[in-house]
Amino acid sequence: MELTTTLTTGALTTIWTDRSEPFVVAGPCSAESADQVMETALALKKKGGVHLFRAGIWKPRTSPGNFEGYGPKALPWLAAAKAATGLPMGVEVAMPKHIDLCLAHNVDVVWLGARTTVNPFYVQELAEALRGVDIPVMVKNPINPQVGLWAGAIERLTQCGVKDIVNIHRGFSVNTKSQFRNAPLWEIPEAMQARFPGIPMISDPSHIAGKRSLIAELAQQTAWQAMDGLMVEVHPNPGEALSDAKQQLTPEDFWQVIEELDWRIPDTKQASLQRQRHEIDALDTELLQLLARRAALAKELGAIKQAKGWPILQSDRWQEVLNNRIQQGKNLALSEQFVRDLFKEIHRESLAIQRLGV
Ligand code: PEP
Ligand code: MN
Repeated sequence: MELTTTLTTGALTTIWTDRSEPFVVAGPCSAESADQVMETALALKKKGGVHLFRAGIWKPRTSPGNFEGYGPKALPWLAAAKAATGLPMGVEVAMPKHIDLCLAHNVDVVWLGARTTVNPFYVQELAEALRGVDIPVMVKNPINPQVGLWAGAIERLTQCGVKDIVNIHRGFSVNTKSQFRNAPLWEIPEAMQARFPGIPMISDPSHIAGKRSLIAELAQQTAWQAMDGLMVEVHPNPGEALSDAKQQLTPEDFWQVIEELDWRIPDTKQASLQRQRHEIDALDTELLQLLARRAALAKELGAIKQAKGWPILQSDRWQEVLNNRIQQGKNLALSEQFVRDLFKEIHRESLAIQRLGV
């Protein structure tokens, strides 16, 4: 299904009134107490520019026994913060009963988390529960890097008549380690922007980064990517947070990120330069991890050779390895000299490790 019309025709128009401004969502990962919610909301209201306060009250945690949110008990905390600041409230929902509770407490916006979007059964149930309800729905990308799964969730919601949808790019689980908690894979939100031009796309640099220090540059990348806004986790005392402590910003740091952002012109050249740099960083990290695994194997090999009284250097095997690597390198368009030098160095280190057993 192609959606070409602007879908934001419902209540979102009263929350995000000036579409020339980025749509900014901010607030703690989790609502932890009435005071924490109030303090954060007051700090976020201090300056203009925040359109929606976010707080998780049902937290999808990997292991049972971790803090799973305060549930319905936290809804009056949000209502009090809204009464004091006028900020609309947004909450993650994962089950139809969550939607009922949010509606009963005048929550303004709900969102589907990454672990919900991934499951078409859940999405369908939530979409049915939203039929006939004029509440904006934000949809985080599924944890797996699949455009189709994300698009399917949007289609299920629109088929049930949801009028306002906002997509949230929060990064993807991939099996290679990088500096990011969740790989940004910018080409996926780009594909969604192209497929659903009427649906705003915002980015959640907090969950992509997993750590405070990367949030500012990811937020700038979001602007260059021609996205429509940001969701940022903000906590009055991030180090003490009950969930996602490493990635939440203090209100002061949040304002600094917002003030330093240049949101004016999407810059595809800057966007792709930055992406390529991140990709190089990720590849270098992977290279080092592979070298460390190779070194660990060399150490085990050295122990076996020493136990058996075999020589550490076995010239035939080494020649065979080198020739084979040069050939593999050629197949990958890598120069013979480069591969020869590289493997001589790797081999030299491997022998040293085997000899020393370190
Ligand atoms: C969150 O927003 O706190 C959250 C749990 O996010 P995600 O669904 O992106 O993991
Ligand atoms: Mn979080």
